[in-house]
Amino acid sequence: MTRKIALVVFVLLAIIFNAEAQVRDTIRIPDIPGYVTLKYDPHMHTVFSDGAVWPTVRVHEAWREGLDGISITDHIEYRPFRNDVVSDHNRAYEVARPLAGQLDILLIHGTEITRAMPPGHFNAIFLEDANPVDVDDWRDAMVAARAQDAFIFWNHPGWARQQPDTTLWWDEHTWLLENDMLHGIEVVNGRSYYPEAHQWCLDKGLTMIGTTDVHNPIGMDYDLSMGERRPMTLVFATERSEEGVREALFAGRTAVYFDNKLVAREEYLDALFKESLQVRSVTRHSGSYGVTLFNPTDIPIEISKARGNDPSFEFFRTTTVPAGGYRNISIYISNASEHDQIELLLNIDNFIVEPGKGLPVTMTFVPDNL
Ligand SMILES: [Zn+2]
Ligand SMILES: [Zn+2]
Repeated sequence: MTRKIALVVFVLLAIIFNAEAQVRDTIRIPDIPGYVTLKYDPHMHTVFSDGAVWPTVRVHEAWREGLDGISITDHIEYRPFRNDVVSDHNRAYEVARPLAGQLDILLIHGTEITRAMPPGHFNAIFLEDANPVDVDDWRDAMVAARAQDAFIFWNHPGWARQQPDTTLWWDEHTWLLENDMLHGIEVVNGRSYYPEAHQWCLDKGLTMIGTTDVHNPIGMDYDLSMGERRPMTLVFATERSEEGVREALFAGRTAVYFDNKLVAREEYLDALFKESLQVRSVTRHSGSYGVTLFNPTDIPIEISKARGNDPSFEFFRTTTVPAGGYRNISIYISNASEHDQIELLLNIDNFIVEPGKGLPVTMTFVPDNL
C-alpha cells in the first residue's frame, strides 16, 4: 500500500515537473499597423552538419522561447558527422517537420552554402529540395537555390576568419545582387553586429537579417534563465504563415532584435516605437511638467535629448524606460503655466536607424489636469 502511494506521488511529481518544464515564453514586442510581428531565427545548425543537437531540439527550443519560426540551415559542404549521420541534405528538415507541425512553429526549409571568401557563406531559405544545391561551382549552387524561388542572404559578412581586416564588398556580391541571387544580409550573427552590412542594406535595398547561427544547445550560448534572449529577425508579415514570412522578407519588412537593441529601417522602428512607449500621465505644476511613461514591451527604451529643444526646458540628458516598467520624468520650466503643451525632441538610442544613429522622435505632452 505504502509503495502504491509512493508510486502515485512519484507520478504526480513527474507530471508537475514535466508541466513546469514545458512553459512557453512570450516575447513582448508589439505588432505594427497592418502587420503581425513574427519572431524568426533563420540560421542554425544540427548534427546534420556541425551542430551539437538533433533537429527536434531546435523546434523545442524555439517553442520554449516564444519564437514563431526557424530555419535549420545545415552546411551543404561541411558535414563532420557525415559518417555517423548518413543522410541527404533534406533530412534535418524532415526530422523536425512533424514536431514543428504539432507545436505550430513555422519551419522554413533552408541550407547554408559554405564557400571561401569571396563570396563567403549564404543561407538559401524556402527551398523545396536542398540536394541540387550540392554542386562544385558556387555560382551553380546559387542558381540551383534561386531556381526554387529561394530567398538568399549573405551570412556573417564581417567574420574575422574570412574578412580579417575589413568587412569588404566584393565583385562577386555585385554579381549576385545584379542576378537576383542576393536579397538580404546578416546585420547581426550571434553576438556580432556588422555596421557595414547595416549600411549596405540601406544603400542597396537589401533585407536586414538577424540570426543566432547557433551550433550548441541554445542555453549554452544565451543565459535564458537570466532573461537573456537570442538574436532574431522580426518579420512584419500580413499573416502568420510561411507565405507571410516569404512576402515580408522579399519586401524588406524586417527588424533585427539583439542585445536589447533593434536595427531596422526608420519607418519600422518609428512604427514599433509608437506601439511601444505609452504616456500614462502628464501633470503641469507651477514650475515643471511631470510625465509618467510606461513600456509594456520586453525591450528597454533608451532615450536621450536631441539637439534643438527649447533652451528654457531643463530635463534629462539620458533616461531609460525599463522593459515592462515605468519611468517618471520631470521637465523644469519656470513659466510652465504659460505652456498648454510641450514638445520634446528625443533620440531613441537603442532603436538604431543607421550605424551610430538612434531613432529621432518628437513627443508632445498635453497635461491631464488643465
Ligand atoms: Zn557560416
Ligand atoms: Zn552557419
